[in-house]
Amino acid sequence: MLQEDYFKSQQQAMIDLIVDMARIESPSHNKVAVDRMGAFIEARLQQLGADVMRLFRDEVGDILFAKWNANAPGKPILFLCHIDTVWAEGTLEHMPIHLSEDGRLYGPGTLDMKSGIALMMEAIRGLQENDQFPNRPIWALLTSDEEIGSNHSEEVIREIAQKSGLVLVMEPATPEGALKIWRKGVAAYRLHITGKASHAGGAPEQGINALIELAQQAIRLHGMNDIKNGTSVSVTMAEGGSALNVIPANAILGVDTRFLKMTAMQTVQQAIESTVPFIPGAKVEIETVHSRPPMEYDALMRATFEKAQQIGAKYGITIRGEGSGGVSDGNFTASIGIPTLDGLGPIGDGAHAAHEHVLVRSLPQRAALIAAILTEWTF
Ligand SMILES: [Zn+2]
Repeated sequence: MLQEDYFKSQQQAMIDLIVDMARIESPSHNKVAVDRMGAFIEARLQQLGADVMRLFRDEVGDILFAKWNANAPGKPILFLCHIDTVWAEGTLEHMPIHLSEDGRLYGPGTLDMKSGIALMMEAIRGLQENDQFPNRPIWALLTSDEEIGSNHSEEVIREIAQKSGLVLVMEPATPEGALKIWRKGVAAYRLHITGKASHAGGAPEQGINALIELAQQAIRLHGMNDIKNGTSVSVTMAEGGSALNVIPANAILGVDTRFLKMTAMQTVQQAIESTVPFIPGAKVEIETVHSRPPMEYDALMRATFEKAQQIGAKYGITIRGEGSGGVSDGNFTASIGIPTLDGLGPIGDGAHAAHEHVLVRSLPQRAALIAAILTEWTF
């Protein structure tokens, strides 16, 4: 059994690895930069004995798919990581990496999720070094566009997760150290509204007012809110009109919708997709901008989480669970019925914010927990 104490002795090496990765900036929209990050990680994974495949992408960084013990029996355990960050190139100049006196490692991407990647590597390295690396297939998928909606990776995530027995999502824990045992689903839409222009002075009655149609659609959508059951339908953007004296012919309405349950998601989705105009002659076209199913707290999630708790307890590690309104790639894997543990990364705070940091003392315990799961998990 590889305990937390062992990983405490490796704490400085973990800090160094996170710093090395955080120094390579990897904003999602910059393929060259993300590929630089990918090359660094690929070399490290190879040093750890993995077979690494590059899944080429044109518009975003290449995806890495690593395998250990490919021919061992049993279902694979799949690590799910992303190597992109929300931070633009050059952020390091005004947001330098630094370790505070109270043991917090600050810097862009430190928490989300370069430390998650470091934990995965450290858990594997620790097991190998102590001759405890389990003879079972272990996979790692490192995607490159999670922070911009995973459009270039969703399909491969689903495909690879489908073949796995357990998915470990290396997103940060909550600031209190809990795993994420549910996440809301999200769908965002634009309603493109077409009316008919006319002179507001000469012939207002001959126009079809796209903004009045927009206003009525906004009120209708707002009425779909069911906050107490976890459903939010938020009208978030509106634009339209061309001049003060013209009846507007065009308008666009933006909507963000979030759900705890797939059934609720489908109901609202259907209601939005079957929108009919209020005003005769107006047209409403629905554009789905992005959509991701909820990671539900269902029987499978409960069982998976309880199993992780039991393994943790055996190693003296207490695990708690909490929910989140934010999404991750775990939404995809959980929603297709694959056991998923999300939020296995370290404790920290300020993801996507100027005070992004990792609590260094949480690193050894998380590495020990991950190593324990790799060793002890049974299917
Ligand atoms: Zn993340």
